[in-house]
Amino acid sequence: MATSGNYEYMNEDSIHEDLLCPICTDPLEDPVSANECGHTFCRKCIIDTFRDMSTCPTCRRDLTLEDYHPVTIRPFLNQLNQLLVKCKWCSQTNIQRGNFKDHITNCMNVMISCPAAHLKCDWNGRRDQIQNHISVCPLIKIQPIIDELNALVKQQSEQIHFLYTILEKTSKSHKKACQEYYKANGVAYCDICKKKFTFVEHKRRLHFCPDTDFCSHCVQKYFP
Ligand SMILES: [Zn+2]
Ligand SMILES: [Zn+2]
Ligand SMILES: [Zn+2]
Ligand SMILES: [Zn+2]
Ligand SMILES: [Zn+2]
Repeated sequence: MATSGNYEYMNEDSIHEDLLCPICTDPLEDPVSANECGHTFCRKCIIDTFRDMSTCPTCRRDLTLEDYHPVTIRPFLNQLNQLLVKCKWCSQTNIQRGNFKDHITNCMNVMISCPAAHLKCDWNGRRDQIQNHISVCPLIKIQPIIDELNALVKQQSEQIHFLYTILEKTSKSHKKACQEYYKANGVAYCDICKKKFTFVEHKRRLHFCPDTDFCSHCVQKYFP
């Protein structure tokens, strides 16, 4: 969840101007600066700005987006992290901005969607209501069945892929090509996992074709 729309700054007037972004005039978020002039902006603001210009917004020096690098000066980042904010959802005050992510993931007033939203449950509500919803949500109840079906579909499409590979590799021209490869190189590999086959008197269990087969490990993996 993007956090910046979820809080407001406390005592915004007392925040030192070095901590403010000249573009959005708010305290810097993900600050980036260019070595050439040292001017510093929010990462998002400079990306937006460079959509239609290619000069530093403060000093007009010719620059590109690639000239901006994240600011890594600890004391500066600490000052930004220590700015105090108020949660817009629960009105709790004096939260350090650097800790706001932890606050919002636990804030009981924040609006969240149902864990079964991907199954088209359109419930939205405060986090402190989610347990009530979960106890009645029909989509959450069928989720394990859907997960099971999805796993089955995935397994079957892997099996189909495996069988398809066998079909492709057993064509006559392929057999001839890999017999020659084996004669020339003396090695062959499992088509699926690429494990090296070992040969007994230059003959394999199923075919002569050294490159047509799959190790028993792979067969068992797809057809347990
Ligand atoms: Zn900005
Ligand atoms: Zn500049
Ligand atoms: Zn809150
Ligand atoms: Zn639901
Ligand atoms: Zn294999």
